[in-house]
Amino acid sequence: MNAETLPVARSVAELRRHVAAWRSRGEPVGLVPTMGALHKGHLALVEAAQTAGQRVVVSIFVNPRQFGPREDFASYPRPEADDLVKLTEAAADLAFIPTVDEMYPDGFATTISVGGPSEGLCGAQRPGHFDGVATVVAKLLIQAAPDAAYFGEKDYQQLMVVRRLTRDLNLPIEIVGVPTVREADGLALSSRNVYLSAEERRIAPNLYRIMCEAGSAIAGGEPPAPALQRAVATLGQQGFRVEYLELRDAAALAPLTEPPTKPARLLAAVHLGHTRLIDNIPVEIVWTR
Ligand code: AMP
Repeated sequence: MNAETLPVARSVAELRRHVAAWRSRGEPVGLVPTMGALHKGHLALVEAAQTAGQRVVVSIFVNPRQFGPREDFASYPRPEADDLVKLTEAAADLAFIPTVDEMYPDGFATTISVGGPSEGLCGAQRPGHFDGVATVVAKLLIQAAPDAAYFGEKDYQQLMVVRRLTRDLNLPIEIVGVPTVREADGLALSSRNVYLSAEERRIAPNLYRIMCEAGSAIAGGEPPAPALQRAVATLGQQGFRVEYLELRDAAALAPLTEPPTKPARLLAAVHLGHTRLIDNIPVEIVWTR
């Protein structure tokens, strides 16, 4: 198979022509929004849409509006040819790769700002980030008008923001969350893992391990504060600089300080050298008060 076999739409009009052709034949459509530098985590989203029997559109767009001024927009990896090979091998139906001008033409003046789940966590650390995410995701959902759109639990706060936005704007699109794909040693796959040095790559899986230990302690009945303090200290000893490690309600993402009585999520952002890593795990309640 070669990369030419996967059609590429570079304009919204071309995207809509493909989607309209499928619709006229009654074929359902799934959208997988990405920033490219594709790995098995992205491909799990493609597979989820295929399992649902949908035509799969994968968008690749490094969205300038979700990067802060001191973040890695310019250096973010953009291996387009490799991505097209991967999507062809995965039997996706269409790549949508718009330019920045196509998405944000001169005079563009609209921002979608979601409250609630955008607050705190990455929302506090990266001002404007979720406005950028919500604006681009709303545009992609309206442009492709899919039956379903697929997002990774890896970016759990983003998934909750997208669910909120879709409900609040009455978009008739199912938002599907897909579990985080990890390396064998537990590190969550991320396009940013290529930034890690060999030594950092060796340390990185400790994030997940330490989070799992804290999550089990809390699930087993330990109050969150001491369990989290211990985890932050251990992360520091391992060489991570902790931005946040917080226990939140799994649905609304409201902060939890008491042992959880409903599904909870433990979420973290850390720095390892120059690389920012995020991860999150469910905290299942195995006891009752
Ligand atoms: P990105 O290209 O990093 O913006 O990610 C595009 C989509 O892929 C988002 O919905 C991410 O949550 C999802 N994703 C990224 N990494 C993973 C992973 N390791 N497992 C599952 N989904 C992922």
